[in-house]
Amino acid sequence: MAGESEEQLRAYVEYFRDLGIHDFYRRGEPVAAAGIVELAAAAAAETAPPQDQAVRAEPPRREEQPAAVSRVVSPPPPQSVPLPKESLEPPIPKLVSFNDLAPLPTERLAAADRPAALNSIQEEIGDCTRCPLAYAGRRKIVFADGDPSARLMFVGEGPGADEDTQGLPFVGKAGQLLNNMIGAMGLKREQVYIANIVKCRPPGNRTPEPAEANTCSQFLLKQIDVVRPEVIVALGATAATYLLGVKQSLAGLRGRWHDCRGAKLAVTYHPAFLLRDPRQKAEAWKDLQMVMKEMGLKSPAKG
Ligand code: URA
Repeated sequence: MAGESEEQLRAYVEYFRDLGIHDFYRRGEPVAAAGIVELAAAAAAETAPPQDQAVRAEPPRREEQPAAVSRVVSPPPPQSVPLPKESLEPPIPKLVSFNDLAPLPTERLAAADRPAALNSIQEEIGDCTRCPLAYAGRRKIVFADGDPSARLMFVGEGPGADEDTQGLPFVGKAGQLLNNMIGAMGLKREQVYIANIVKCRPPGNRTPEPAEANTCSQFLLKQIDVVRPEVIVALGATAATYLLGVKQSLAGLRGRWHDCRGAKLAVTYHPAFLLRDPRQKAEAWKDLQMVMKEMGLKSPAKG
């Protein structure tokens, strides 16, 4: 029962995340699960935050910490002098678009050199311990999958359990749906390039923390600069937020072109969200049709 409600809570919070609402603040004493739901509901009532707003680093969620042993009586908390509230706030990492993270490359690598260039990025990552995700139960680092010279690149949020086991992006249920979406566009999975904002699985499939995403971004940026796709599709709000350096609702980002490292970037729903709310598939299809038009692709369904 407890597991079930935790699952429901996670799905509920993820729902808001797909709407582009990320930050559920928890201040002072940890709040009960019901409290988080109230906070999520309150956040949903807010209008979309302004562009270029900094992302606030959050402490790890309480459900990831070891459960307390019920019989142990805790000593009373030590008396401490209250600190001014500001000094307790974590630093706010600035949200920077991929365009502003590094200068754009002036030359495009020859197609024949791209596989080796991607291999050297993978070697540079190595057995990465640059962020806390390395110590959060990660099994495999999920680098990417697909054609090093792809015209189209998909960027998701981060590996889930299946991806963590296999070391490949989008191989679970959401991956099956992504494969279908790619097929509906008249392409094969092997013809596109697929990567994520973070390369290690966030525990419990939570949203990557800003510090984790910012640490990992340097490698995705290099991958984009090697592949140099014509079009990038950001899958869901997390990918869009970090690629574009803006925190906006998906509604505000979909249906128009953005720029990311010389590629045209479109934003659509994350396949995991579409699995939870299949009614939105028609909307996602509109986004993909915009991409197909730009790339001159024809849907096989239309013959
Ligand atoms: N969800 C993602 O965002 N990426 C994956 O690789 C799998 C699921």
